[in-house]
Amino acid sequence: METKDIIFELRTKNRLSQDELAEKVFVTRQAVSRWENGETVPNTETLKLLSKLFDVSINTLLGSPRELVCECCGMPLKDSDISREKDGAFNENYCGWCYADGDFTMDFWKQYAAIGGKEKFEEFKKQIIHEFNTLLHIEGLPKVENLNVLSGSFINLEYRLPNGQIVKFLDDNATYLGSQLECEFGGDRCFGIAANMDFLLVCTYEENGENPELVIYKKR
Ligand SMILES: [Zn+2]
Repeated sequence: METKDIIFELRTKNRLSQDELAEKVFVTRQAVSRWENGETVPNTETLKLLSKLFDVSINTLLGSPRELVCECCGMPLKDSDISREKDGAFNENYCGWCYADGDFTMDFWKQYAAIGGKEKFEEFKKQIIHEFNTLLHIEGLPKVENLNVLSGSFINLEYRLPNGQIVKFLDDNATYLGSQLECEFGGDRCFGIAANMDFLLVCTYEENGENPELVIYKKR
């Protein structure tokens, strides 16, 4: 869709007249009319205001010319995944898991962003993948190809030790690099892997993380 159609659709969906929209973003009704006729496109400042008003990214307002991808974790970004600044404005460079309220969410990202940004982070991810593939030798664990950024609260499973004690290894408030992989031998258990700067973890579990078993927790 083109910008003119997108603005028209957002305006009418929000039941605003051209006059009302013009007032909200400090332009004339004629300006709105020219956008909707495709004669002009809003300038950068006005795009920011429209983005805020309609709660859609500037990329969406412009007809999605760019394939937005989080510069931290590589996740493709839909508007609902895009991170926000403190004032609620979208930051279209990052996903909301890697960056929130105007800052990176994770210490090692802060560190990597400070040293070299995306490149450093990709290097780190590659290193972790390499370690999963070369150091652990776990039967049935397929080759790890990619890792995603996962919230600790989603993957912090409770393991029952032989003595009945229940333990967790992760921090609900931290984020990890991890993935879920099918066992090479089939069956109804799959592998979950997770890592950060300090450790690699491999577990298996049934559907929805039920009956988890720790396979290995290895300090890096
Ligand atoms: Zn991200």
